[in-house]
Amino acid sequence: MLSPHGNDLVDRCLSSDRSDQVRADFDEFVTVTLDRTLLFDFANIARGVYSPLRGFMSRNDFLKVINDLSLENGVTWPLPVVLDVDTDLANQMEPGDRIGLRRSDGEPVGVMDVDSVYRYNETETCEQLFGTTDDDHPGVRLLADKEPFFVGGPIKAFSDAIPRNGSHDISPREARVLFKKKGWNSIVGFQTRNVPHRAHEYLQKSALEHVDGLFIQPKIGEKKPGDYTNDAIIEGYETLVEGYYSTEMVTLSMFKSRMWYAGPREAVFDSIVRKNFGCTHFIIGRDHAGVGNYYGDFEAQELFAAVGDIGIEPLYYHYAFYCTVCDGIVSEKICPHDSEHHMEPSGTKLRGMLGDGDSPPAELMRPEVAERVLELDGVFVEE
Ligand SMILES: [Zn+2]
Repeated sequence: MLSPHGNDLVDRCLSSDRSDQVRADFDEFVTVTLDRTLLFDFANIARGVYSPLRGFMSRNDFLKVINDLSLENGVTWPLPVVLDVDTDLANQMEPGDRIGLRRSDGEPVGVMDVDSVYRYNETETCEQLFGTTDDDHPGVRLLADKEPFFVGGPIKAFSDAIPRNGSHDISPREARVLFKKKGWNSIVGFQTRNVPHRAHEYLQKSALEHVDGLFIQPKIGEKKPGDYTNDAIIEGYETLVEGYYSTEMVTLSMFKSRMWYAGPREAVFDSIVRKNFGCTHFIIGRDHAGVGNYYGDFEAQELFAAVGDIGIEPLYYHYAFYCTVCDGIVSEKICPHDSEHHMEPSGTKLRGMLGDGDSPPAELMRPEVAERVLELDGVFVEE
């Protein structure tokens, strides 16, 4: 099976005995509270989703990632994984200290051995990450909302700190065992934030012609009003897979993380994460993790070429849609007809129809999927 990124699958979860020992000293530590997305990062580090990271990034790793898309040790890494703290907290910690980490309800989740406390240049960071400092870019706003200091160092998670969200919440180690049991040697990963429509089904099935298994992994964790709820995405996929896929060729999982909207860099990041889960290939659609018009159509390809072989193969797909003349889902590469014949799976349009309680046209969304989603209490995250 494919090696994890950096060769070792990281595991920073303590045994329950060791957790009890470390927890005994917890009250003596300065503590940092992790919000929902920081808690996702913490869990991803602990379970090896972000291998080879063993903690939140030190200053040297952070600068190298921003400027050169690699960790200090030379391993390719495109996005920051950082823990921000305010000035008051930053003044209470220094390299060599052990600090405590808590959930927002106050419950201790683990510890971190601090190796650096540092400031960063927000403008330079935005330029490098997003190619812009424009406030309209959600990644720029995300960074602007962060506290002025970052604290880095390896973490350790208490044995009971990482709750599971149902049966689809599997770790890289578990995914690798599962793929082996299924006899899959080549596995293609697919990321989404949407209730499945037929253009995505087309991409997945086109890829499945070439590999043993499909690993569908919605990125779960966005909580902006108007986003699909986790249930809508997961139950939509369960319905689609049951009705229209060779079920022994598919595993449905989830990747709990935030979006950075960093386009090409995020495409490389998303690929590395799937490599850690055991995937050999990863589907990159048009404008992967993009927003607005900040990234060019071929920038992801160019960046993959620039960073060289990262041990997982990106599969690039053209934009797909329903063509009334072709009478099927096709892509802009293979359909010769004018756009007046095309029904596009526009996210805004599909959301609008489901929001009104209507099923989208069967050419764009399987009726069973729409019906299942419309039965749920909430299709979208509310204000
Ligand atoms: Zn056509």
